[in-house]
Amino acid sequence: MFRARAPLPLLLLLLALPAWARPPRLTLFITVDAMGTDLLLRTRPRLQGGMGKLIDSGAFYPYARYDYAKPRTAPGHTTLATGANPWRHGIVDNRVIDRATGKPARVFPDAQHPVLEAPLSEDDVSPANILAETLADRLRLATNEQGKAVALSGKARSAIPLAGRLGQAYWFDETVGKFVTGTWYTKELPGWLKNFNAANPPSAWFGKTWEPVRPRTEYLGEDDRPYEGEYYGLGRVFPHPLTGGLTAPGPQSYSAFAISPLSLDLVVRAAGAAIAGEGLGKDEVPDLLAVSFSATDRVYHQYGPSSWEMQDTMFRLDKAVGDLVALAERAAGGRANLLVVLSADHGGAAAPEHWTAQGMEARRVSPKELSKGLTEALRQRFGGDVTATVEELDVYLGGKTLEGGKVDGAAVRRAAADWLGKQPAISLAVASDDLPTLPDMAGLATALRRGYYPGRSGDVLFVVKPFHVMSADTVGSNHGAPYAYDQLVPFVLAGKGVRPGTYTQQISTTDVAPTVAAALEMNLPASAEGHPRSEALGTGR
Ligand SMILES: [Zn+2]
Repeated sequence: MFRARAPLPLLLLLLALPAWARPPRLTLFITVDAMGTDLLLRTRPRLQGGMGKLIDSGAFYPYARYDYAKPRTAPGHTTLATGANPWRHGIVDNRVIDRATGKPARVFPDAQHPVLEAPLSEDDVSPANILAETLADRLRLATNEQGKAVALSGKARSAIPLAGRLGQAYWFDETVGKFVTGTWYTKELPGWLKNFNAANPPSAWFGKTWEPVRPRTEYLGEDDRPYEGEYYGLGRVFPHPLTGGLTAPGPQSYSAFAISPLSLDLVVRAAGAAIAGEGLGKDEVPDLLAVSFSATDRVYHQYGPSSWEMQDTMFRLDKAVGDLVALAERAAGGRANLLVVLSADHGGAAAPEHWTAQGMEARRVSPKELSKGLTEALRQRFGGDVTATVEELDVYLGGKTLEGGKVDGAAVRRAAADWLGKQPAISLAVASDDLPTLPDMAGLATALRRGYYPGRSGDVLFVVKPFHVMSADTVGSNHGAPYAYDQLVPFVLAGKGVRPGTYTQQISTTDVAPTVAAALEMNLPASAEGHPRSEALGTGR
């Protein structure tokens, strides 16, 4: 079955290819938000569903590493999609500080392309800021725009890089409780998505309760721990109500639902609607379906990676991945026509109190306190109204004194780095002026450089000590440091042309996109830094 719109010469070319040169009809690219290597390996013996089977049947790399200092969601998805680090793709973090206003700003804003069917906001909405070619772009260009690329996620900042400039991105919007997109991608929601939203109104899950999916004896540790968060009325222990503390559906209840792993199933069903609506996998022209599961990250941040809630989310993810792979397999006409990819955008630290209880020297580091102390120190030395805002590991300096050129900017940045470097939680701090020439002490300078993009990154960059966690709150946990627990994620490849096995060499997450491109017999994305993992790809000859 070929699409009527496919030009004849392309179809004849594809028909004329020998069997081994046919790329898979459909590539299913799964990203699990915040599923670090540690979390997966600890849980794997208890995963007997679709994700467990996918790992067993595919090429499994447990140790794929983000090579930059600050593994976060937007840069992570963009690196998976482009094969490049932030120094090339420009997506340095989820938020940056807008130097004009001194306020935090999203990394994918676009005033020219607003969101559809949701209130106008300054949220992530378009790929305009991505400076590198994505896999979706590559596939569209390589197929003369006949191959389709669709990305779905619980978060805009995950769907957007996976769709790139030329694909289609859809994400769950917590203000309206449904899937939306932005006018960059389309002027109107496609019919299949309108129908899906109408068939899945937010009232359908209002008042449901998140219960443990397995007998309580299968969960390790304690359910109730004082350092777990209690946002959106979810509470710390099972069962978790999903009303958001409301009496009727509203944004608070949509957020409670989006945190809970009950939302994993909604994403799978939306993917099913996309497959049917867009005819993905139907013909020999390769299509890409990218799905990023977000509940895993939200549960991680609120409850920590060892919580009962995280374990429950992994059990449910195990099934959700299986359901999704089954849908894709049916769409492509069997595993022989399908390539499945699974990875994650970053890992995540334990709640520092959990590590402390186990005997590690761990600490919660408050960005607010660092900002305050640094601002005071700089004002004492330089006077005026110099301000310092700490956003994860980046420090943005501002104030009229600095902007008016009354003081030497480089001197202020270096003084800030000096002050930060003396703080007990910090192992290294550097002014952006000195980043290019910083000696690579302990291998951290290169990681900082790969994550830096001029104009978007901070004026001063720093690295916390191991087991020190940047945290604006007193509960939950966070990720974004250059250590194994944050940087290492799994990479799984299964289906057409894949040589199954467990590959324990450490690879780079910049290898993911080149490997997928090679499996699809396409050129590498334009700015890719990584290499195809050819040991996992059979020739089929
Ligand atoms: Zn993430």
